[in-house]
Amino acid sequence: MSFADEANSDVPTLPGTHSGIPTYLLEKARKEKETVFETRTKPINERQRLPVVPQGIERDDFLKALAELKGQLGAEHVEVNDKPLRDGWYMEHPNTHDMMTILDEEELVASAVVYPSNTEEVQEIVRWANKYRIPIFPISMGRNLGYGGAAPRVRGSVTIDLGKRMNKILDINPEDYTCLVEPGVSFYALYEAIQEKGYDHMWIDSPDLGGGSVLGNTIDRGVGYTPYGDHWACHSGLEVVLPTGEAIRTGMGALPGNNTWQSFPYGFGPYSDGIFSQSNYGIVTKMGMTLMPNPGGYESFLYTFQKEEDLAPLMEIIRPLRISNILENVAQVRHVTQAIAARGLPRATFFSSSGPIPNNIIHAAAAKTPVGDHTWAYYGMSYGPAHIRAHKLALVDSEFLKIPGAKKIDTSTLPPDEYFWARDRVAAGVPDIHELRWVNWTPNGAHIAFSPVSPIRGTDATALFALGKAAHDKYGIDFFPAFCVGLREMHLIVEIVFDRDDVKARKAALDCLRDLVDEAAELGYGEYRTHLVLMDQVAKTYSWNDGAIMKFNEKLKDALDPNGILAPGRCGIWPKRYRGRGWEMTRDSGMGSEGNGVAAD
Ligand code: ADP
Repeated sequence: MSFADEANSDVPTLPGTHSGIPTYLLEKARKEKETVFETRTKPINERQRLPVVPQGIERDDFLKALAELKGQLGAEHVEVNDKPLRDGWYMEHPNTHDMMTILDEEELVASAVVYPSNTEEVQEIVRWANKYRIPIFPISMGRNLGYGGAAPRVRGSVTIDLGKRMNKILDINPEDYTCLVEPGVSFYALYEAIQEKGYDHMWIDSPDLGGGSVLGNTIDRGVGYTPYGDHWACHSGLEVVLPTGEAIRTGMGALPGNNTWQSFPYGFGPYSDGIFSQSNYGIVTKMGMTLMPNPGGYESFLYTFQKEEDLAPLMEIIRPLRISNILENVAQVRHVTQAIAARGLPRATFFSSSGPIPNNIIHAAAAKTPVGDHTWAYYGMSYGPAHIRAHKLALVDSEFLKIPGAKKIDTSTLPPDEYFWARDRVAAGVPDIHELRWVNWTPNGAHIAFSPVSPIRGTDATALFALGKAAHDKYGIDFFPAFCVGLREMHLIVEIVFDRDDVKARKAALDCLRDLVDEAAELGYGEYRTHLVLMDQVAKTYSWNDGAIMKFNEKLKDALDPNGILAPGRCGIWPKRYRGRGWEMTRDSGMGSEGNGVAAD
């Protein structure tokens, strides 16, 4: 497909394409696509490094093994990745590589992609991988953007795209408020199915963008913005194919004939679900999820705060309100620079020099927006009938307005396209696509996240803000901090937006992130989730008692995956065959991702 064909094709829709957009967002998605392609200059490059074959197997043996798999799954369900790498965009994303690559684009790529249709076929693929010692890498939707997208950690892995053919909503239970989904069910698709059935007594919980897989996002511990925002905490029951090919069901799913798999997560004995989250110990083929009761009313609110120093007192106010559930959802405290970027205009509209965009330019731009000038904005939502909301909102108002210059924005004055309304929809369980806009800040916009966890405290927020600002200034990068406030902790989410076709910009972004991870760790802050290229570094920061947790993880890996075939290196966990051969990506390894071979049997 040429660049022009790619730019001009229509946005795929649900239910025709499992990863498509629902019709209520189609017009908006078409506009988003137009903007993405307007700022794109990166060509679709001819491949330089073909064929891609994983280390540890000869090319001919690999091709024979693929032919065997074709015989098992059907030739059309095994695709060799030898065509030019097409980045697409959010709604037409690739499953062969990271569309937001921070390394050379041919670094983190799959050798082939396979499409199982059920759990038994996943088991067959796993047994095949063991037979030939081929690394495999499962994805659900592959929209894990900012953390590696669909890319495998080990170059040349065979990607198992579970979502394409395993995309059924197996059950929606309107009495228990639960559902059971396969990997290819997006937040958009789950929302649509619930609407179609007329179950308006149930809400789903969506992340900023609704195109990700409910299952993939949950096992990677993503968050959403209703009171059910901690997705991992809200799931109940997994079906998992182990790296040696056996299938297990966790929790009550292990009891034949049970009717509580989706309502009681623990079952009997050790609670094993945890080891299948942010790991490489299994391929999750089904997951139960709880759904939130419609709270009977809701009301979004927006407060702005004028000065950078308001951050500390604001956090002190938020903490007790959040812990006592007066502030009810995973709220966002966003910096004005990101608010300006979220308007979707390229940075060059405001500032054409290099180096971070100056504060006065950002504030001048903010003053012209409907929300007005500010430094921090708090987006929240209150739930329940009006009289219950009134009580909570009055408390919030009296507390927030203690900060001099704080303003409650009259949201009825905000135009329909304002970012606030996207936050409003998402916090009411309606998935959106608005959040993409700040990626247009640079041409060929890509983003990668730094996401440390801290208590909800003024001193911590200030320390992380200062650390982030200094590193961004050092590398001449615009700083987009947003604090996502959970119940007793917050994640600072810093998205670095960079031109993925610019080698220098990619390197600056990666160097900046490497500094951030180490400097944060020195202060006692660790990441809650990270990109493939940072996994080794982040895992090393969790080093208490001489790296005891990684020793434990490796012990589990070796026991569960003796041939080291499943997602080697994911979350910094390397199987025995790879250890001690320079596979870790660190500051010293630079922009390369590969190590020096694997051990023979
Ligand atoms: P998204 O929901 O954002 O589309 P992905 O499908 O990309 O997410 O999943 C995020 C990451 O989680 C993947 O890169 C992969 O490593 C892991 N993952 C996704 N689905 C599964 C699965 N079904 N079993 C095991 N690991 C998975």
